[in-house]
Amino acid sequence: MIPARGVPHWVLPSLFASFHFSSLMGLSSLFFSFPCSWLAVHVSLAFPLVAGILFIPAVANLLLASFMDPGILHRGAAGRAELVIQALRVKESRFDLHWCQKCRYYCPPRTFHCPWCNVCVEEFDHHCKWLNNCIGCRNFRFFFLFVAFLCSYNVVVLASCITYLVLNFHQAYGAEKICAPGFISFPYSPAASIMVTIPAALYLLPLLILVGSQASFITLAKRTYELKLHEAGRANPFDLGWARNWYTALCAPQGPK
Ligand SMILES: [Zn+2]
Ligand SMILES: [Zn+2]
Repeated sequence: MIPARGVPHWVLPSLFASFHFSSLMGLSSLFFSFPCSWLAVHVSLAFPLVAGILFIPAVANLLLASFMDPGILHRGAAGRAELVIQALRVKESRFDLHWCQKCRYYCPPRTFHCPWCNVCVEEFDHHCKWLNNCIGCRNFRFFFLFVAFLCSYNVVVLASCITYLVLNFHQAYGAEKICAPGFISFPYSPAASIMVTIPAALYLLPLLILVGSQASFITLAKRTYELKLHEAGRANPFDLGWARNWYTALCAPQGPK
């Protein structure tokens, strides 16, 4: 990507990520203010409770994955240069350690130099433009939890909005016509519900595919960027079995940097 002249290179990616965060917060505000409030009063309190239980960890994990160090390795001394090919053996697999020209050291296995952030990241998965951060060994679990909670939240929002629109299909003339005597009047806004329903429906399939693919990568101890390496047929030495792979990805304590 060529940045616009005079604009620092970090401005556009930051604006891109900020726009999506603002969209999530804005659409969620509409959802909780209109269809969710109405459903809480007229149908069940389970709607705001379930949506809130999924929304809060989604936002918390989004912030953690966005602002955490993904596993950046410190740069080597300026005078160092590549001398000989270094190799490492993991189980029975040989890894030739490649020399990073920018960071000036031999990269450990699964370390990749992110061209967007200009740093080497340990256990690099991918650079997420939505979060404007690399996803690596230290923030991968928060990234996965973010997309899993966001996907579940998206399903609940979509189901709630559809329920709301179906129940109000014949009520197009304001809150006072749909509130039974004794009920608190909540604003009725099909426009707000439709504004939430459309993006929720559009993002549902991509989110399901993302969660499914990341879950399969965790099960197989793969990383997203390794799909580009065309190492078909080579045994994965980092595969510890699906149960330990999940434990390592989501629960295992992380060592010091
Ligand atoms: Zn590097
Ligand atoms: Zn990056």
